[in-house]
Amino acid sequence: MNFKIALIKGDGIGPEIVDEAVKVLNKVAERYGHTFEYTRVLMGGESIDACGVPLTDEAIAACRASDSVLMGSIGGNTTTSPWYKLEPSLRPEAGLLKLRKSLGLFANIRPAYLYDELKAACPIKDEIIGDKGFDMVIMRELTGGLYFGERKTVMENGVLKAYDSLTYDENEIRRIAIKGFEIAMKRRKNVVSVDKANVLDSSRLWRKVVEEVAKDYPEVTYSHMLVDNCAMQLVKNPGQFDVILTENMFGDILSDEASEITGSIGMLSSASLSETSFGLYEPSHGSAPDIAGTNQANPIATILSAAMMLRFSLNLDEEADAIETAVKNVLKKDYRTVDIMSEGQTLVGCREMGDVIAAEI
Ligand code: NAD
Repeated sequence: MNFKIALIKGDGIGPEIVDEAVKVLNKVAERYGHTFEYTRVLMGGESIDACGVPLTDEAIAACRASDSVLMGSIGGNTTTSPWYKLEPSLRPEAGLLKLRKSLGLFANIRPAYLYDELKAACPIKDEIIGDKGFDMVIMRELTGGLYFGERKTVMENGVLKAYDSLTYDENEIRRIAIKGFEIAMKRRKNVVSVDKANVLDSSRLWRKVVEEVAKDYPEVTYSHMLVDNCAMQLVKNPGQFDVILTENMFGDILSDEASEITGSIGMLSSASLSETSFGLYEPSHGSAPDIAGTNQANPIATILSAAMMLRFSLNLDEEADAIETAVKNVLKKDYRTVDIMSEGQTLVGCREMGDVIAAEI
């Protein structure tokens, strides 16, 4: 079959890790008889340098014309890069926020899975992790809440005052809750909905709508948890979670916490989905400007994001399984990039990691 994929390489290590994901995708195409047609799309710092803005209308149109988008990461060193001297709406991250909104990418899925081979890199004590480890998915609402609410900074009575508003309507909550319960149906059928309903009105509405949606999924057990407790439970007993369903800012923070306990942010994929099968796939980490161009980046998060893309947008489950199995096999064979390296293992660079994974397909 023939698929159109928009490629956003982005900044920092972005181009290096996307090249490795493309290497693996091309191997999948060869092995399973598909054609992946790539269109290069500029976003973030590379788009600012080339076009003066972090995302052009043409770039959005090119993404829309594709079956899915595969992205590296965008942004530079936020202290030294000239991109961060620009006004906020012209900085690299503004491009990503605009793309998510323009493409209706409201559902962010981030798996956090502890590989047996990487248990040594997990910062949590063995007695907490146990034999089973953990395997969870964080389903985060991506286009509402505090990050998209009205904001302003004004002088009031001679004092500078900043306002950010947190709003959700019931439809925004319902559609993400449905995605959360749907994904739970394909997993261990458990949802923990995370909010701050003891304080926030938006969270009380969140809870009410989640309860309504839950009635349509009698096979799924669900419970509510306050966000502060969830932050604690993630390090106290991460094995209890299957699907964590939450709003934008809570999900931003909790998913970084969940990624940290897996041992390396370089391993974690993510998908941002719309109402249709269209989605944007990217690693959970940033553009790591500190190691850009050194061939040290771990490309696995991007390669696993490409696997998610095959599964969720292109409906190629067997091919997605092949990539995930290839990653597990190279870890079993002790190939490691520097971020996940322990004694006695074989150190490889970004390109070599791409090579060994492609060879396993
Ligand atoms: P980061 O994730 O880029 O880096 C944090 C640390 O993890 C660094 O030490 C880095 O070297 C390391 N690291 C990250 N990915 C790695 C990989 N694949 N392999 C090995 N090591 C890896 O976070 P940061 O330094 O806070 O942000 C850098 C830039 O990335 C900023 O401009 C930020 O805004 C941007 N950012 C972009 C996205 C995105 O594109 N979605 C997400 C987060 C941050």
